[in-house]
Amino acid sequence: MGNRLSSHSKTMEVVRKFGFKFTKSLGQNFLIDDNIIDKIVAGANPGSEDNIIEVGPGIGTLTRELASRAKKVVAIEIDKNLIPILDETLSDLENVSVVNEDIMKADIKQIADKYFDGEPFKLVANLPYYITTPIIMRFLEEDVDVTDIVVMVQKEVAERMNANPGKKDYGALSVAVQYHCDTEIVAKVPRHLFVPQPNVDSIVIALRVRPEKKYKTDNEELFFKIVKAAFGQRRKTLLNSLTSMGILDKVEIGKILKESQVEEKRRGETLSLDEYAILANCMNKKLGEV
Ligand code: SAM
Repeated sequence: MGNRLSSHSKTMEVVRKFGFKFTKSLGQNFLIDDNIIDKIVAGANPGSEDNIIEVGPGIGTLTRELASRAKKVVAIEIDKNLIPILDETLSDLENVSVVNEDIMKADIKQIADKYFDGEPFKLVANLPYYITTPIIMRFLEEDVDVTDIVVMVQKEVAERMNANPGKKDYGALSVAVQYHCDTEIVAKVPRHLFVPQPNVDSIVIALRVRPEKKYKTDNEELFFKIVKAAFGQRRKTLLNSLTSMGILDKVEIGKILKESQVEEKRRGETLSLDEYAILANCMNKKLGEV
């Protein structure tokens, strides 16, 4: 684990050597703390059989520590100005491939097939703040074999992903993530541990993708439509927010809520994922009958 890059002085030495200019709009805040890097690595727990995709390697600080333990690391970086830097900082590691692409446009399945022979992989990253949620949802919703997602994200986003029903942070993102994963807070990271310093604090969160479905939904699309409607109008009762979906009238929605044993005056933020699943299955059954 020699040649660590994660001190302020080492990072600035590399940045100056290459005349690199930080681009704020790309969320370029580089981590400068060994302890946090170690916590991310521990949360990902890469073994010699593990494949890893890292999004946004920056100058390769986390990449080096992952590669020294994992079987293979593919680092996807959008900024072409970082590529010559990575060529140098990762030059002694044979199990790393750097791909110069935008993660939102990259074909993740093709990358996993090409570099990992289609084997499962873990996503590990200090994500760029401006697209944390779309990146995570891409990996969860596409047909790719990701087993663990261990990522640094803005504190508030991590709190939403980790929130339980009834809590103020509980929302559509909590349901979307917890539908697929068990969540675990790995570390809290204050803003002064990055260069340049961002305006927000961060959290490292681990999302453990369940191999089997925990929530049995007959119609996943309808489940998420209901969740969206229920959280879209937070102040409305479920009776009203589900009626405004425009699929069934108030009387029918009232019957479905009763059948699902959900009090019609409750609001979306109080329902557990189990309750949403029951509700969605009842509505799906009813739609099949009409
Ligand atoms: N991993 C480094 C670290 O921990 O110090 C850098 C993390 S920095 C928060 C985010 C990185 O993501 C930057 O290197 C940035 O250029 C890269 N990035 C931003 N948008 C991206 C995108 N759409 N696709 C791939 N990489 C992106």
